[in-house]
Amino acid sequence: MQKKPLISASERLSKLPPYLFAELDRQKKAAAKRGLDLIDFGIGDPDMPTPEEIVVAGQAALANPANHRYPDGAGSESYRNACREWMKSQFDVGCETAAVIGSKEGIAHIPMVFCNRGDLVLIPNPGYPVYRASAILADAIPVDLPLLGENGFLPDFEKIPPAVLREAKVMFLNYPNNPTGAVVSLEQMTEMVEFARVNNILLVSDNSYSHIRFDGVKPMSFLQVPGASDVVLEFHSLSKTFNMTGWRVGFVAGGVNLVKTFMGAKENIDSGIFTAIQKAGETAMAMDISGFEERLAVYRERREILVDGLNKLNWDIADSPGTFYVWVKLPRGADSMVFARKMINHAGIVITPGSGFGTWGEGYIRFALTIPSDRIHQAVGRLEQMELHKGRLLKWLKKTGD
Ligand SMILES: *Cc1c(COP(=O)(O)O)cnc(C)c1O
Repeated sequence: MQKKPLISASERLSKLPPYLFAELDRQKKAAAKRGLDLIDFGIGDPDMPTPEEIVVAGQAALANPANHRYPDGAGSESYRNACREWMKSQFDVGCETAAVIGSKEGIAHIPMVFCNRGDLVLIPNPGYPVYRASAILADAIPVDLPLLGENGFLPDFEKIPPAVLREAKVMFLNYPNNPTGAVVSLEQMTEMVEFARVNNILLVSDNSYSHIRFDGVKPMSFLQVPGASDVVLEFHSLSKTFNMTGWRVGFVAGGVNLVKTFMGAKENIDSGIFTAIQKAGETAMAMDISGFEERLAVYRERREILVDGLNKLNWDIADSPGTFYVWVKLPRGADSMVFARKMINHAGIVITPGSGFGTWGEGYIRFALTIPSDRIHQAVGRLEQMELHKGRLLKWLKKTGD
C-alpha cells in the first residue's frame, strides 16, 4: 500500500509569492531595539482616528440587542440603501450594492466565483498583492499587466497576446492606484470598459482610493461609463475614505446579476458584517462631505512637505495625483530591497520597496503619507543632512555597509 503523505499545506498555497517584507520587518525590529528613532512611511494605514460621529453611531448600535444576532449576509436593507445613495451622490451612478467585509475580502473571493481552474486573471504589476494571491488560491493563473511610468502607469492592452485574451476571465484595475498614485480620466475608463466588453472579461475595479486625489478632479467610478454595469464590478471601501481600516467595512457595486452571482458564493463562506458596524458605515456615508475635504487637506500638506523635500534633493518622483502614497523612481541599477534596508539602518526611515508589489515595481520605492507632518519634516531633514541627492544615491548604496 502506498504511504499517505504527511499533513501539509496545499500545492496552491505553496504557489503564493513569499512574503517579501518579512526581512524588512526583522530589520525594523532590530533597528528599534538598537534605539534608532524610526520614521515609518511603510504601511498605508490612516493614522487619524475615525470621525467621532461614526464612532458614536457604532457605539449606540453595539448596545442594541437587535444587532447581536446574525446579520443579513448581503448587508441590511438600510446599509445597502446607504451604499446605493452614496453611489448616486458621489458618482451619479444607479446600481446594485452588497456588503463586503472590507474590499480586501471581496477582492479575494472574485476568482473563486468567476474563474475555472486554469483561467487567466489579468493583474496590474506593480499592484496590491491580493489580486495575485486570489487568483492562485482559486487555481486560476495570474498574468501580469505591466504598469509602466512611460504609459502613465496604465496597462497597455495592445501588448496582450491574443491567446491570453481568449483565456482571460477577470481583470483587476485599481485607480487611483496603489502604489503608483496614478489616476484615470473618464475617457480612459471608457476605453478600459470597452476592452473588457469586447473580450468578454469581467473588469473588477478596486476603488478604495476614490476620494483621495489632489488634482481637484471629482471622485470617479468605472460605473459612470455607460453600460458598464454588465461587465464591471467595483469595490468601495470605507477604510481610507473615513479612516475606518480596523472596522472592516465596504461594499461591492455593479449590475444586479453580477452582484447577485458574487454574493451567492459568499453566502457559503461568511455571514456578513456585524450589523452595528454596518450602522456606523451608514452614518459615515450620510455625513457632511466637508469631513473628507479636511482629511484630504491633511494628506495634501504632508505630500507637499515630502515632495518639496525630495525635489530639492533632485529625486525622481512619479506624477501621482491620487492616493496617500508617493512613488519614487530610484536611479537605474538600484535594488529597491537593498535601498529599503539601508534607509532603515542609516537614516532611520522606513519605506516600502517597489519589488514588494511585483517585478515591475523594482527600481521604485513607496512612501505612505500616514504619519504627521513634523515627522515628514524630520525625515526630509535627515536626507538633506546625509546629502542624499539623486546623483549620490548609487554611490551611497555601494559604499555603505548594511
Ligand atoms: C487598502 C487597500 C484595500 C483594502 O481595503 P479594505 O476595504 O480595508 O479591505 C484595497 N485595495 C487597495 C489597493 C488598498 O490599498
